[in-house]
Amino acid sequence: MFSWANRLRQHTARLVVHTGDLLFPPHCLCCDTELHDTLNRRLCGFCSERVAPIVWNGCRRCGTRMPGLVAPTCRCLACRRLSLHFDAAVPLGAYHEGLDELILRMKKPSQQAVSIALAQLLAQRRHDRLRECRADLIVPIPMFWIRRLRRGVNNPDVLADVLGRSLKVPSQTNVLVQRRRTRPQHHLPRSYRFENMRDAFKVQRPEAVRNHRVLLVDDVLTTGATCSEAAKVLKRAGATAVWVAVIARTQND
Ligand SMILES: [Zn+2]
Ligand SMILES: [Zn+2]
Repeated sequence: MFSWANRLRQHTARLVVHTGDLLFPPHCLCCDTELHDTLNRRLCGFCSERVAPIVWNGCRRCGTRMPGLVAPTCRCLACRRLSLHFDAAVPLGAYHEGLDELILRMKKPSQQAVSIALAQLLAQRRHDRLRECRADLIVPIPMFWIRRLRRGVNNPDVLADVLGRSLKVPSQTNVLVQRRRTRPQHHLPRSYRFENMRDAFKVQRPEAVRNHRVLLVDDVLTTGATCSEAAKVLKRAGATAVWVAVIARTQND
C-alpha cells in the first residue's frame, strides 16, 4: 500500500513537471534559448560547451590551464614558486570565457538558479576528477558574518550543497569560519593577497575534519591565496588532504 502510494506520488510529481514544461518551457539561464533536451534543464548545450570545456587541461595542483597534454604529476611554474597548501584544484572552466558574467549574477540572492546550474555542470563535467579526491566531506569557503548578512547568500554554500548531493558526500557549512574581516581580494594587487588572507579562517569543529579528506568549494580561484589559507588551517586541524573545486579559474600571469 505504501509503495503504491509512493509510486502514485512520484508519477504525479513528474506529470506536474512535464505539464509545467509544456505550458512554460524552461529557458537557458545564459542565452534565454528555449530548452528542449538538456542535462540539467538550466543551460543549453551551446552555453554549457562554451563555459565548461569537456576536458580541462590544467596544472594538477593549482588548476591553471596548460598548453598541451598534462602529466599526472604536473606542477606549473607559478605553483612551483608559491607554497600552496591545497593538494589539487578542479575548475569547471576559464573565468574570461563566459563564466565571469554568470559569476557576477550568482552573487545576487535572486539568482541562486545560476549557482545551482553551474554546480550541477561542475559535478557532471568533472565527475571523475572529483571522485579521485575521495572526499569525506565538502566544506565551502565561508564569508565574514557581517558581509554575509549584507549579501544575503554565500555562493560557495550553495555550490557545496549541490556538489554534495551529486557526489553523495556530506557538505558542512559550520566547520570553517572566517574570523576577521578581509579586504576584497579582487581590489588588491596579487602580491598582497596572501598577506590579506593570513589567519583569516578558523576551524570551529576540528573533530569533523580530523583524519578526513576535504573538498573545499569556492566560486573563483585566482592566486589561490584564499583556498590555500583555508587548506592550511584544515590541515592543522587534522585533515589528511584538501582538494579545491571551483567554478572558474583565472589564468596565472
Ligand atoms: Zn544558452
Ligand atoms: Zn600550478
